[in-house]
Parts: sequence; C-alpha cells; structure tokens
Amino acid sequence: MLNLVFLGPPGAGKGTQAHRLAQRFAIPQLSTGDILRRAVAEGSPLGKQAKALMDAGKLVPDEVVNAIVDEALARPEARRGFLLDGYPRTVAQATALDEMLARRGRKLDYVVSLDVPVEVLVDRLSGRLTCPKDGSTYHPRTNPPKRPGLCDSDSTPLVQRPDDRPEAVRRRLAEYQNKTALLTDYYKPRGVLRTIEGVGTPEDVEGRIVSALRDNLTAGPANP
Ligand code: AMP
Repeated sequence: MLNLVFLGPPGAGKGTQAHRLAQRFAIPQLSTGDILRRAVAEGSPLGKQAKALMDAGKLVPDEVVNAIVDEALARPEARRGFLLDGYPRTVAQATALDEMLARRGRKLDYVVSLDVPVEVLVDRLSGRLTCPKDGSTYHPRTNPPKRPGLCDSDSTPLVQRPDDRPEAVRRRLAEYQNKTALLTDYYKPRGVLRTIEGVGTPEDVEGRIVSALRDNLTAGPANP
C-alpha cells in the first residue's frame, strides 16, 4: 500500500510523474484536473459549474473537489494505494483529505513536492500541447510528439488547454503562490514531505523521486 500526494506549481510535472509512478507501483493516478476536464468535455452539471473557473485559471470550490476525491478513494482500485495529482491545493482540502483517510483507517505515506523555477514553468506551460482524449502532454522543443500535432498513443489532434494561455497561466501561478504553496508547511512537521528538483528530463526526475522514496522505504515507510 502506497498513498502518495504530488505537490507543485502548474507545469512542475505532477501529471507526467504521477502517470509514470502510477504505472511503476501499479496504483491509480487520481488527478482532479483530469476528472474536471472530463466533466467539462461531457458537459455534465459538474463540468458546467467548473468550466468558467478552470478556463480563467481559478480554483474550483473546495467542497466540489473534496467530493470528487472522496468518491475516487472509495473505488476498489484505490484500496491498494493511490497517487493524488493536483489535490490538495488549499489547507482546507488538506484537512478534508486527512479526514477522508482517517475514516478509512489510512494515512499519507509521502508528499512529493516538485520544485521548478518560475521561468521554466512559464516556458513549459506556454508551449504545452495536450491530448484532449488521454490527457498526455507534449512540448514542441523538449518532448515533441512522434507526428507533429498528434497524440502518440491514439493520434488525436493535440490542443492547447484554455488555461495554458498566458493570462490564465499568470492566474494559476498566483493561485498556487497564494493558496497551495503553504501546504509544504502543513506537511513538513509530519515528516512525510520529500522535496525533489523537478528540472530535467522526465526520466531524470522520476529517478530522483524513486530514489527518495526507496531510501525512505528502506529506512521504514511512514505507513507500514
Ligand atoms: P490541473 O490539471 O491540476 O492543472 O488543474 C486544472 C484546473 O482544474 C485548475 O486550474 C483548477 O481550476 C481545477 N482544479 C484541479 N484540481 C483542483 C483542486 N484540487 N482544487 C481546486 N481546483 C482544482
């Protein structure tokens, strides 16, 4: 059982790394952003409520995302562990997560915080192309798709996420600074926080994360 949270500003590589580690450890990746984007694409009531906030780069209300996560944690596949990507984003969400886990007799093993300088974040986000079907991301310079403009796995035409436009990127970075950056202080005293340098290739960053977790798993996991 491995219960992980990925923290970090937009563009830090949370989705990329969460995807890789979810496969490596065979646990589900629970991405609130992906779940919300699917709801927007389907035009569900949740999607209709979230769309304008998301497009503007603002956070969706805590109660809405808390309910999404509670439901995701209740699924059978999450019993073996999970990797939360993009949640929690506020202290109120972090306390709600603690309650949801306590109710199930579980707790977090690690909070992996990806550290990336702001100029690298802006470059990554402004060039980012996303597959609207599977959520995979590309960058024309650092991670180009095999065929320009098309997703490697299903050939879906890649798009720029509405919130990767410059105005929304500025707002998302500000939301992160004002509301999410504080979470490292929330988790630090518990000894679960692992800060990892997030610059480099996805393979490099994954290697750093795995060795930080392995060192600690060898030393004795926080949640044996
Ligand atoms: P992401 O894919 O994680 O960058 O999330 C995209 C957008 O979805 C965010 O800018 C928010 O509008 C919304 N969102 C995703 N996760 C959360 C969350 N935990 N709390 C509030 N809003 C969220």
